[in-house]
Amino acid sequence: MLKSIHAALAMSVITLTAFGASSAFAAPLKVVASFTVIADFAKNVGGDRIDVTTIVGPDGDAHVYEPSPADAVAMAKADIVLVNGLHFEGFLQRLVDASATKASIITLTKGVTPIDFKPEFADADAAEAAGTGGGKTVTDPHAFQSIANARIYVKNIAEAFCAADSEGCVSYQTNAAAYTKKLDAVEGEVKAAIASIPESKRVVITSHDAFGYFEHAYGLTFLAPQGVSTDSEPSAADVAKLVNQVKQDKAAAIFVENITNPRLIEQIASETGIKVGGTLYSDALSQPDGPAATYIDMMHNNIRQIKGAILGS
Ligand SMILES: [Zn+2]
Repeated sequence: MLKSIHAALAMSVITLTAFGASSAFAAPLKVVASFTVIADFAKNVGGDRIDVTTIVGPDGDAHVYEPSPADAVAMAKADIVLVNGLHFEGFLQRLVDASATKASIITLTKGVTPIDFKPEFADADAAEAAGTGGGKTVTDPHAFQSIANARIYVKNIAEAFCAADSEGCVSYQTNAAAYTKKLDAVEGEVKAAIASIPESKRVVITSHDAFGYFEHAYGLTFLAPQGVSTDSEPSAADVAKLVNQVKQDKAAAIFVENITNPRLIEQIASETGIKVGGTLYSDALSQPDGPAATYIDMMHNNIRQIKGAILGS
């Protein structure tokens, strides 16, 4: 009995060695993606040649995420780590240090033109009190909300995969080109959706300022009581200012976000009498069976919710 188990083990070692020696059975590239949008891009570019582990999962909030020991293990084993950068992942440096990962850390916003964010609501009263006449300007990290930038993320991912796995490079470039074509089509749909909304109605409210790049690219204005991060609560004065804007008919619709507590938005909705228009996916995709399981589904969901709430269709 013992002998036969031993023989079986020996056989499996030989088999594994044989597989390992053949490039046709090369192990997939171990990729860690900091959050769901990047994981989706990586799967579209990498296909079967990669294994993706996602740190901040569906409906998760990367701004305030606390990494787990399992995240550190995944980082330590990774060949490549894909991150947004621009301080989107507040946890990143701690996790890199804790895991002692040797993986290349690829910042996908490389090549993106960053947008500065000057808070209109969040922190504005504190700044007023300090006599500085407005909030502190910071870099908006949510570059992925513009499809033009999504194309840059995809190009950066293909380059990183090619550098790590030259045998797969043609496949990565082919996949990236095919996915970029799909992004081009979605971009056309987003532009058409916004164009169908009268200019006077192109102002909406969300809970945090996640849509600066969308606003810049497509011309829909977003107001939010919370700034570009979710790590601090908005003040009562900020919320009152927003309520006034809505009462003066300066916002056409109001939305909750998938990653944040809806309490504040529900409060603004009840004080203004505007019904919450639906859920926008801001900093994370939905669960696989939800309405925004992929980046393209997220864009479709968001324009459908926005058009539906403003135009009532
Ligand atoms: Zn955010």
